[in-house]
Amino acid sequence: MFELPEYVTLAREMNEALRGKTVQRGQLGNSPHKFVWYNRSHEEFERLTEGKTVGEAWAKGRWLFVPLEPGYVLLLGECGGKVLLHPLGAELPQKYHLYITFRDGTFLTATTQMWGAMELYEEGEEQNREYVKDMRTTPVEPGFTFDYFCALLDDLAGEKARSAKALLTQEQIIPGLGNAIAQDILFRARLHPRHPIADLNTEQRQSLYDAIVDTVGEAIAQGGRYDEYDLYNNRGGYVRIMDKNALGRPCPECGGEVEKIQYLGGACYLCPNCQA
Ligand SMILES: [Zn+2]
Repeated sequence: MFELPEYVTLAREMNEALRGKTVQRGQLGNSPHKFVWYNRSHEEFERLTEGKTVGEAWAKGRWLFVPLEPGYVLLLGECGGKVLLHPLGAELPQKYHLYITFRDGTFLTATTQMWGAMELYEEGEEQNREYVKDMRTTPVEPGFTFDYFCALLDDLAGEKARSAKALLTQEQIIPGLGNAIAQDILFRARLHPRHPIADLNTEQRQSLYDAIVDTVGEAIAQGGRYDEYDLYNNRGGYVRIMDKNALGRPCPECGGEVEKIQYLGGACYLCPNCQA
């Protein structure tokens, strides 16, 4: 699944390569898939996108906003898979959930592995979409300060007992994070995934905050994670410290053995010596 660094990378690459192109024909998927969320019929999508020009894309949380000017915004969100720009004369992939050709002969396809939104809104209306509306501050926004983070933890303290992994992966409390990047954040913060956030002291809060900002920043700087692909079908440059490849290898910090546990709907890789 794409997380914030992958969406930011796609937005940046779209602004380099896609901005200013004019849509010749926009089509929804050829491969029925009940977990792809559309808000337009095939006919509507084609009619509303024809002749539109790609504006400046941006990412927020796990959502990618691509203006189709004048008047519309294409919204891709909560998806994994591939969003690819194909050169003139390239072969169309067999399956796709979105297919947009441009007047210069290049084309864009999007295919999601699990689920995902591929929706077209009148400009401004995309901000009212569920999950986009009322989205909390993401780690790349100026508002994501240590004070903000502490206030967020204080707010959550009154609720059910929440663990560090739950904070990073559930309900988009910190939008844009997910299971993949959370593992490295927890390792860098020296926190066990099950560690209750209610009892973090100031120093631990600071470590967790720094780990979030640093890990996301580094993954963005390297064009997303190695296990995801960019607009040109190249892997990202960010190799995770804690993932399935780390299992059985020594911890880079203490040399102890990295272990795997199942917790909160997925595998966690961690160093039991370093992470408490
Ligand atoms: Zn260790």
